Amino acid sequence: MSTAQARGADHFVIVGGGTAGWMAAACLARLLLRTPGPQKVSLVESEDIPTIGVGEATVPSIQDMLRYLNIDEADFVDATDATYKLAIRFRDWSGPGSDFFHGFGELGPTIDNLPLFQHWLREKIAGAPVPPLSDLSMSAQLALHNRFAKPTTNGNSPLYMAGYAYHFDAGKVAQYLRGYAEAKGVRRIEGRIIEVTQDDQGDIAGLRLADGREIAGDFFIDCSGFAGLLIGKTLGSDYEDWSHWLPCDRAVAMPTQGLRPIAPYTLVTARAAGWTWRIPLLSRLGNGYVYASRFCDDETARQTLTDAVDSAPVAEPRLLRFTPGRRRHPWLRNCLSLGLASGFLEPLESTSIHLIFANLFRFFDYFPRTVDCATLSQGFNARSVREIEEIRDFLILHYKASPRRDTDFWRYVTGMDIPDSLSAKSEVFRQQGKLFADYYDFFKPASWMAIYDGLGVVPDAADPLAALVPQDKARAILRDVTEGIRQAALTAPTHEAALSALLRRAL
Ligand SMILES: Cc1cc2nc3c(=O)[nH]c(=O)nc-3n(C[C@H](O)[C@H](O)[C@H](O)COP(=O)(O)OP(=O)(O)OC[C@H]3O[C@@H](n4cnc5c(N)ncnc54)[C@H](O)[C@@H]3O)c2cc1C
Repeated sequence: MSTAQARGADHFVIVGGGTAGWMAAACLARLLLRTPGPQKVSLVESEDIPTIGVGEATVPSIQDMLRYLNIDEADFVDATDATYKLAIRFRDWSGPGSDFFHGFGELGPTIDNLPLFQHWLREKIAGAPVPPLSDLSMSAQLALHNRFAKPTTNGNSPLYMAGYAYHFDAGKVAQYLRGYAEAKGVRRIEGRIIEVTQDDQGDIAGLRLADGREIAGDFFIDCSGFAGLLIGKTLGSDYEDWSHWLPCDRAVAMPTQGLRPIAPYTLVTARAAGWTWRIPLLSRLGNGYVYASRFCDDETARQTLTDAVDSAPVAEPRLLRFTPGRRRHPWLRNCLSLGLASGFLEPLESTSIHLIFANLFRFFDYFPRTVDCATLSQGFNARSVREIEEIRDFLILHYKASPRRDTDFWRYVTGMDIPDSLSAKSEVFRQQGKLFADYYDFFKPASWMAIYDGLGVVPDAADPLAALVPQDKARAILRDVTEGIRQAALTAPTHEAALSALLRRAL
């Protein structure tokens, strides 16, 4: 064992002060700096190199982060211009005028070990009249009626099937987490990194800044964004490009004035060469068009977004370029990459911030005590890759299963080949309506079902287990559950009333 390998991992140096960097700093501070000891956390960022600044919609795991950091929800919502998010509303994905929700949480309860939506599917395949699938989703119904209530643990209320996340201002979140991390002892170093030095084993030894300062460390966390300064440029972990399956590679983003009522969902509308988002914050709307540059030039994209927005712009449109994919080795030697440095999937299901947090927690599972981390990193990488690939497949489904064929973009995405993992999953669904979830799958069967159904995909047969429940019983439960959900949605406070109660002020 070399001297370098035996060295303790005491000084963690984070490179980058975007969402990923400050999230890592806050979470590491909570873990390592609670009691005095040898461990230190530093973060290097440069004011000359802007953060990506978008990243406004989240998924329910964001609450795990707030809980872990012991952050008060009202304080966080107030400081970050946040609103609640219950669902994503998909418009025009099956053609003009089509509209469906992918709500957080469950699609009805489980009956005799089978989700209620399987009984719904059985009825639908048999040609019986069924309510829209979203009537089985507590969160979708709340979203449809612009209302909000938190999930309960009381199994007698349909609210136990709900789930929620937040929309927020990404810049304010980074500021908030910076305040948290610095108060806990994280040292922020302002400066532009011009060189990354390695020891004779090839591990990262330190950073050289433009003003000549040198920052040494034991373990490095690369949050330098698309630059991938340490993980890619220095250590050479190459980037697996997924643009064949996910051809969108650019976005134009533009905030506009806020609108009332404040919708508790993200609106994503299919367009000629991609899709637009509308994300409601407390004081404004975030808008953007994610598109494939192979099928749409930047000026057309800008015009599409300008035509699509529903309120007056408050800033100029901003163009962003990206390559969908992932680092082949997200953790290599004494360097973990997080955020855009480790990979990127278009924000259709708002999963990037989730992946930062999920990988941080996976890192804690494999936490290095010394800089000799080859075995730890292998376990981490296998699981991390597994998770992002499942999310990739879920995103591909949104395109591949669409019945749209009206532009070159839609003809390409519906005709392209797909990963074997997705083909296998789709085949089981088509043949017998089965949807499985492995332990590390982020998207559970209810999510896959919402997208399949929203895009008009009906399997040839329902799960055979559904036939084991008497049809009368299944129909009665379906009726009672959808009615219970409807009542609970209509009697919940409006989204604005819920936010107002949380913040203890009028909005
Ligand atoms: C169009 C678009 C929309 C998105 N929407 C969502 C969404 O709705 N939900 C979601 O979860 N995610 C979304 N994301 C992803 C999300 O924005 C990112 O995952 C998140 O912001 C993390 O970014 P980051 O911190 O990795 O990188 P960045 O924000 O790019 O930060 C990089 C940091 O590295 C520093 N740095 C770089 N080079 C140097 C250097 N040489 N010296 C010193 N410092 C350096 C910079 O100063 C900066 O602080 C979206 C992304 C895009 C492109």
